[in-house]
Amino acid sequence: MSSFPEMRLRRLRRTESLRRLFRETRVTVDDLILPLFVVPGQNVKQEIDSMPGTFHLSIDQLPREAEEIARLCIPAVLLFGLPENKDELGTAAYDSGGIVQRAVCELKRQVPDLVVITDVCLCQYTSHGHCGVIENGRVDNDKSVALLARTAVTHAEAGADIVAPSDMMDGRVGAIREALDDSGLSDVMIISYAAKYASAFYGPFREAADSAPQFGDRLSYQMDPANAREAIREIELDILEGADAVMVKPALCYLDVIKIARDSFSHPLAAYSVSGELAMIKAAAQKGWLDERRATLELLTALKRAGADMIVTYAAREAARWLRV
Ligand SMILES: [Zn+2]
Repeated sequence: MSSFPEMRLRRLRRTESLRRLFRETRVTVDDLILPLFVVPGQNVKQEIDSMPGTFHLSIDQLPREAEEIARLCIPAVLLFGLPENKDELGTAAYDSGGIVQRAVCELKRQVPDLVVITDVCLCQYTSHGHCGVIENGRVDNDKSVALLARTAVTHAEAGADIVAPSDMMDGRVGAIREALDDSGLSDVMIISYAAKYASAFYGPFREAADSAPQFGDRLSYQMDPANAREAIREIELDILEGADAVMVKPALCYLDVIKIARDSFSHPLAAYSVSGELAMIKAAAQKGWLDERRATLELLTALKRAGADMIVTYAAREAARWLRV
C-alpha cells in the first residue's frame, strides 16, 4: 500500500485549499527585517541605482518611513549610516551624536514599538573602507574590537533594541556584551553576523553604504565561501560569548549553512538576503525574464525552509504587501 498506484502524492496538491492545508513552510510579515540607509542632509530620498526600491534617507525622512513600515506591520528595521566624514579610526561610528545614533532616536520617538537593530561595523566610517583599524597594513583585531564595543554602546544608549556586529573580528561579541552590561544596558540584545562570508553578492550594497575597501579585500576576516564546518565554529563561539541570536550572510548561496546552523543550535537564527540576491531578481524581472513576486517569495520561503527564523531583506516592503492577501 505504500507505493504507486495506491499512493498518489498528487492528491495533496489537487486544489489550492489542499495545498494551503499541507503547506510545510510559511513566510509571514513577522519574519521580516528591513534594512535602512541613513545619510546626512535634509530632504534626501534618493533611490540607489543597483537596488531598486531601496533609498538613501536623511533623518528628517525617517518619521514617514517609520509610519509606513509600521502600517505594513514589518516588526523590525536594520540601520546603516553613512557619516559626513570618514577617518582612519572611523570615529564617526562611536560618536554619540553620529548619524545612526540620531536616526535611532528619531525612529524610537516616532514608532516606539518598531524594533530597531543597528549594524555595528566600522567600514562605512573608515577612510580606507575596512571593517576595523589598520595597523602595519592589516586589520588589527583587538584594537578594532574595542572600537566596535564603543560603537555598540552608543547605539544602545540612543535606544537601539538590538545591536548587530557585522565586522567578523574575533572576540567582538564578548567585548560588546561586557561593554553593554558595564553601561547598564543589559536588556539590549546582540544578533551577531556569526557566519558572514566574503561574498561577491554584496556588490550593490557597497554602493549603497559607500563602504568598498580602498585597498586589499576582506578575505582575512570574512569567511571563505567554501567553508561550512568553520561556520559552526564561528556560531558556537558567538553563542559562547553571549550572542542572543545568530545570522548567516549571504542567504541564497548558503542554504546548507542555514540548515546546519538550525540543526546544530537552538538559538534564534536570522538569514540576510543580500543586495546581490535582490539585484538578480530585480534585473531579471525588469527584462521580463522572471516574475518578481513569485521569485522573491520563493526565495524567502527557501530561507525559512532551510531553517531561518528571521530574514533581513531589502524586499521586506514588497513582501509585506504580497503576503497580506
Ligand atoms: Zn564592515
